[in-house]
Amino acid sequence: MKDSSIHEQMRQEWRDKTLFEQASRYAFSYMDGVCDRSVYPEPAAIANLDRFDEPLPVHAQPGEAVLALLNDHGGPATVAQTGGRYFGFVNGGVIPAALAARWLADAWDQSPALYVSSPIAAKLEQVCERWLRQLLDLPDDTAAGYVSGSSTATLCGLAAARHEVLNRLGWDVNANGLFGAPPIRVIVSDQAHSSVFKALALLGLGKDRIEKVPADDQGRIRGAKIPSLDERCILMLQAGNVNTGAFDAFEEICDRAAGSGAWVHADGAFGLWAKASNSRKYLLAGAEKADSWSVDGHKTLNTPYDCGIVLCRHRDALVAAMQASGDYIQTSNDRDGMMYVPEMSRRARAVDLWATLKYLGRDGVGALIDGLCDRAAQFAERLAVHQFQILNEVVFNQVLVACATPAQTRETLSAIQACGTCWCGGTMWKGEPAIRISVSSWQTTEEDVERSVDAFVRARPSPD
Ligand SMILES: *Cc1c(COP(=O)(O)O)cnc(C)c1O
Repeated sequence: MKDSSIHEQMRQEWRDKTLFEQASRYAFSYMDGVCDRSVYPEPAAIANLDRFDEPLPVHAQPGEAVLALLNDHGGPATVAQTGGRYFGFVNGGVIPAALAARWLADAWDQSPALYVSSPIAAKLEQVCERWLRQLLDLPDDTAAGYVSGSSTATLCGLAAARHEVLNRLGWDVNANGLFGAPPIRVIVSDQAHSSVFKALALLGLGKDRIEKVPADDQGRIRGAKIPSLDERCILMLQAGNVNTGAFDAFEEICDRAAGSGAWVHADGAFGLWAKASNSRKYLLAGAEKADSWSVDGHKTLNTPYDCGIVLCRHRDALVAAMQASGDYIQTSNDRDGMMYVPEMSRRARAVDLWATLKYLGRDGVGALIDGLCDRAAQFAERLAVHQFQILNEVVFNQVLVACATPAQTRETLSAIQACGTCWCGGTMWKGEPAIRISVSSWQTTEEDVERSVDAFVRARPSPD
């Protein structure tokens, strides 16, 4: 049969590469401008997104036209978080070598479900697993699953916990579900990240039947208030509070849990990388004693997005919880990635992570983390000079800021969000509004901090 015109067009585009050259040109021009443009898109650029509200096209069109539309109307409406002055959420920057490796891997378009479906993806998953154990000081044979982010990583860690705790009580949750199962106790700080409550709800563990433990003034779980633990318990700890950056007291709490048979999961979405920093690893003392951990590449490690990792010291429990079967599944003695995650097909995420770790090395990860923390400390110091209140102990990359009154804080925050010089999110801290600064990109320089502090001063309304 003769090619249809769309097949002919695709063959042509695959062969002559102009489409890809065009995409690189757009990307290069974006990269050139991103440090100087408005950090948040201008209102006109956002209004212009209406351009995308069109009916589903009937006929094929040239790839160039599709890319041009995306570049011309999409690019200006992006948030410039790969520049140096975006401090929202804990959204990380992106390391050039990791981004470039991802481009290459995108051309490969691999499926890492099984070894047989992509030997290279399987190899890099395995290498990253070993490197992560070394970098994060985790026990031998700790297993890694590569997922979309920490929300899913926490879901997987808790699924492994649920499976193992019930298994030890003689109950097979995969076969029998939770109906009639021996009750599990889940113990969580009232400062746990919202994704933890989502995971508990998805797993049928109930957001409202958990035992909540109060946190201290920095958002750390109060060790003395943790109820007595036993083999029915899953205890959630946190490495990096999303507001203050504070770390729970792992050493003491994990030691207590160890004697009781409780499972400890550590949510270390952005904080777990502190292990690579000689000056900050004290924050994680004892964290290696947990049973499972979740961490993101796309936050403080600055990999491209879609890089979350679940780590579990009980390989069999994780694999059992992610149980997968099917007659056509060809397993091997090599790594089959789908055994460790909920999905079968997914991007070969380990490529970006491998490139990041290979490029930075242990020292480079340490320097990256130290840089974020040093810039956060600089922010706090400079803002205090200008009579802003710093609400947290700045131990990591997070700074919580308030003005003299809640109304002033709110006004300052909305002026900052509109100013274009930098962008910060807001939060409630101890019942009052606060501005959250999260230094999460390698791009942020001392000068970026100075310019942003000036923006804070300009944004603050005069007292009257
Ligand atoms: C960001 C974050 C999460 C969720 O991670 P995603 O990658 O966005 O799914 C969970 N816990 C903490 C502490 C976080 O900062």
